[in-house]
Amino acid sequence: MAKSRVKYCEICKKDFSTMFRIQYKQPKKWVFTCEQCLLNVKKDNPLYVYGGTWKR
Ligand SMILES: [Zn+2]
Repeated sequence: MAKSRVKYCEICKKDFSTMFRIQYKQPKKWVFTCEQCLLNVKKDNPLYVYGGTWKR
């Protein structure tokens, strides 16, 4: 896996300095999202799993 200093939100594709590592859909895999997208996808979502916060 390539190392990158910049991460983009999986959902809105924007660059954020603080990202949240979550699973939110099938197939289950870890993705990084911004806080706003996290709040959107976690709502009433039984697949939602929080895996930590990533800061640049
Ligand atoms: Zn986002």
